Amino acid sequence: DAHAMEAAQAELTEQNIDVVRLAYSDLIGAERGRDLLVRHFARTVGDGVAFCRSIYGTSPMGDVIDIDGGLSAGLPDVLALPDLSTIQPVPWEPGVAHVIADVFNPDGSPAQESPRTVLRRVVERFATLDMKPIVGPELEFYVMEESAGAPNGWKRYGEGTGNVYVAGYKGDPENTLLASLRRLEAYGLDVVAANHEFASGQFEINLWHSEAMDAADRAFRFKNAIQELARMQGKMATFMAKPFNDEGGSGFHLHFSVSSPDGAALFDDPQGEDGLSQVGRSAIAGILAHAPAIAALLNPTVNSYKRFGPDTLAPWLIDWGLDNRSAMVRIPPERGRAARLELRLGDASANPYLATAALIAAAYLGIRDKLEPPAKLEGYGYDVTKAAKLPGDLPAAIAALEADTEIADLLGPQFIATFLAYKRNELERFAQWVTDWEFREYSYHL
Ligand code: GLU
Ligand code: MG
Ligand code: MG
Repeated sequence: DAHAMEAAQAELTEQNIDVVRLAYSDLIGAERGRDLLVRHFARTVGDGVAFCRSIYGTSPMGDVIDIDGGLSAGLPDVLALPDLSTIQPVPWEPGVAHVIADVFNPDGSPAQESPRTVLRRVVERFATLDMKPIVGPELEFYVMEESAGAPNGWKRYGEGTGNVYVAGYKGDPENTLLASLRRLEAYGLDVVAANHEFASGQFEINLWHSEAMDAADRAFRFKNAIQELARMQGKMATFMAKPFNDEGGSGFHLHFSVSSPDGAALFDDPQGEDGLSQVGRSAIAGILAHAPAIAALLNPTVNSYKRFGPDTLAPWLIDWGLDNRSAMVRIPPERGRAARLELRLGDASANPYLATAALIAAAYLGIRDKLEPPAKLEGYGYDVTKAAKLPGDLPAAIAALEADTEIADLLGPQFIATFLAYKRNELERFAQWVTDWEFREYSYHL
């Protein structure tokens, strides 16, 4: 309300903040927003900052896609209202505070396409079970440097130096990972640890777990912050799922558990099979049962499906196992308060709100319906005789999402329709594009 905005303006001024960066996630997880001068904050924010509905139908490169109620409806307004509880000064931009907004229709109803709205919807359904979903995100990414001769003009930062768990300057010659970790800590993202990944130029940072919305907010901020920090050094950080043919992709692992409203850990049961409770087993079962559909949200691009495959440490089959990194769902060895699962399905390109919503929607359905998981994976997880395969490409995943009416009802039919329209347009544009593989395969000998 107006009073809260006035109070926020006064407090920001007090802290020498002169600009508020009002930001929200678009449909695909890119940050969109506006810089607002604090001097005008209360009056510019008013009943919401107007944006055109293209915010849900714009590609990363800026093409406007005709989602329902979009271009063909004249691109009417949507209104972004800051969630004042998320105001956070940006340590590397003195005078700037970042705030996450929720998006509303002109009639005041929440915009059903807003990824934050989608996640809130599923969290509210979870609350009907008297449970709170708890999420700990881990994101991998590559850092690139400009290089005139390299394909697309970018080469990997520190190429030929580091590999997995190499710490310090050997694999990170400019100390960019540790500097980022410290800046993210100062930005309030509750980061825990950073490490070098398998490929040179590839890194991972882990975020501490918290309630699903807070975890998704932090993962959303994290991705943009990593990209911003890279740009400030003239580099590029990419969360693309599989940037290179000959190196592993970048995962977006989600650690997940459920607590009671008063904070008791509900996945632990010393008497249960494998030390897991019925709630934990049913959550696993729900995730497995709905895996093809939620893949569309956890692996949302044409490129995502190239990350899957045997011996990649990314999953390939719909399976679960005890401390097994070749399974789609890994149960880490800790129990007690740390009893949890790790969903290894998602790739880093996923929208953090939608990835989180997809995970907890599938778990919710498993818990609600008291599903029982199939036998767990023993040993090697890339043996197709042991379990069904994940969708092999984006068209298969979006068909599975469309067919899964339980997941669609939880996430919201209007959101699903918009998401499918966007993704079908993306697939059409991709189908028309001549790739470098085609030239290599077909140009010389045919
Ligand atoms: N990069 C792998 C993936 O795409 C994960 C490797 C790891 O376990 O750290 O999921
Ligand atoms: Mg990793
Ligand atoms: Mg992990």
